[in-house]
Amino acid sequence: MAAISGEAHETNCKGCSASVRLSPEEIVKLFGDTVRVKEVKLATESEYERRMAQCRKCEAFQFGTTCRWCGCLMDIKAKLEKSSCPSPGGSLW
Ligand code: SF4
Repeated sequence: MAAISGEAHETNCKGCSASVRLSPEEIVKLFGDTVRVKEVKLATESEYERRMAQCRKCEAFQFGTTCRWCGCLMDIKAKLEKSSCPSPGGSLW
């Protein structure tokens, strides 16, 4: 069995081998500019920015998009009012 390079191992899904990296444009294409789901309240823009600032400096923030603890795309999760940071050391936002 061929060894998996560090780069390939870090950027491919363990289940299907697709890339786990998404560009901001791909995220917008998947979810739209804003999240529109009935009955779900969104965080204010300033709260969203505060949350993302915490994520961007967190060592659990992977690929510029994803929290290693919950596997969520933070561009989406941070927009949901009721979301919280799942850091096992204590919520960072
Ligand atoms: S642990 Fe919290 S701050 Fe860090 S990436 Fe996950 S949600 Fe963001």
